[in-house]
Amino acid sequence: MQIHRDYPLKAHHTFGFDVKARYYAAPDTPEALHALLADPLYRKLPKLIIGGGSNLLFRADYEGLVIQPRFHAIDIVDEDDDSVTLCADAGVVWDEFVDYCVQHGWGGVENLSGIPGTAGAAPVQNIGAYGVEVKDVIYGVEALRIDSLQPVFFTREACMFGYRDSIFKHTAWKNNIVITRATFKLWKNSQPVTHYGALSAALHDCPTPTLAQVRQAVLAVRRQKLPDPAVAGNAGSFFKNPAVPCAKAHALAAAYPALTLYPANGEEVKVPAAWLIEQCGWKGKRVGQVGVHAPQPLVLVNYGGGTGNDVMQLAADIQQSVAAKFGIALEMEANVVN
Ligand SMILES: Cc1cc2nc3c(=O)[nH]c(=O)nc-3n(C[C@H](O)[C@H](O)[C@H](O)COP(=O)(O)OP(=O)(O)OC[C@H]3O[C@@H](n4cnc5c(N)ncnc54)[C@H](O)[C@@H]3O)c2cc1C
Repeated sequence: MQIHRDYPLKAHHTFGFDVKARYYAAPDTPEALHALLADPLYRKLPKLIIGGGSNLLFRADYEGLVIQPRFHAIDIVDEDDDSVTLCADAGVVWDEFVDYCVQHGWGGVENLSGIPGTAGAAPVQNIGAYGVEVKDVIYGVEALRIDSLQPVFFTREACMFGYRDSIFKHTAWKNNIVITRATFKLWKNSQPVTHYGALSAALHDCPTPTLAQVRQAVLAVRRQKLPDPAVAGNAGSFFKNPAVPCAKAHALAAAYPALTLYPANGEEVKVPAAWLIEQCGWKGKRVGQVGVHAPQPLVLVNYGGGTGNDVMQLAADIQQSVAAKFGIALEMEANVVN
């Protein structure tokens, strides 16, 4: 396996910043990954594991070893009349996995169609879209510890999934494991989830859609709202939808009747961050080489030539104006690397 020095990362993350890694390697087998992590030359260097780089924000060059697992098998490990359990290697392109499942008639991931990135990263962020989160179908996650080189298995419960959150972003695991593969349990006769606003509107004329129809509807809605990173660099939703106490949310709804709220838990309600950002006048605003995507203000974009620091400054200004107008703190969803 080749280990590159001073390697350009522009093509390996969707914001498209001009940044480099001191070292970069793309192991194409779990054995090559193990050997790389064991190599005394790189043992002490900080390490960053990346998939498709679609949820990363680099503020500067990475002064360590970037590892991009490339192994990409999909294996069926169990099957009965109702369900199928299958493993996807870390380097499997997420949307190819979804397409594979939909083509076989296995339900559970069709609403997650079109999300960029890899199967290895999907549990880290607990990816979600149109009323479904990947935690709903994850059976377990296999990983390799970077410090001890020991394999470790996480059951779904051990992953401690939350809203765009998991144990892999916290505690001893952050930057100390490489997820090598994830196991999913999907259903042969599942009922598609179609209640989510934009998706239910897209399927209005199709009351009992097939998995393939749900997938096509999701892809069509996504094309309308989200910028193609090949055209304008971005990392999808830059902020999480904040959960606020019910009393505060209902006061907001009374003041702004057009506002749609979403249940979070018994005591809190989710307010769409896109709406908060739009209300503060940021929708479609451009600041130098970066800006706020007009069709979906939750997405910050690099029009070309912008830097991670430009995006961070824009994000801070947005956070400040939302806090000043609504007293609500916006939390970032994208992973800031350095
Ligand atoms: C246009 C666009 C639309 C998007 N839409 C959605 C959406 O609808 N819903 C949603 O949830 N997200 C969305 N995202 C965000 C992003 O696609 C997801 O978070 C995705 O899971 C990131 O996958 P990745 O392989 O690119 O991970 P990366 O960005 O490379 O990494 C993300 C995090 O996971 C870690 N990581 C990656 N691989 C591994 C591994 N094998 N082992 C351990 N850690 C690892 C990284 O260190 C980093 O912390 C969108 C992004 C874009 C650009």
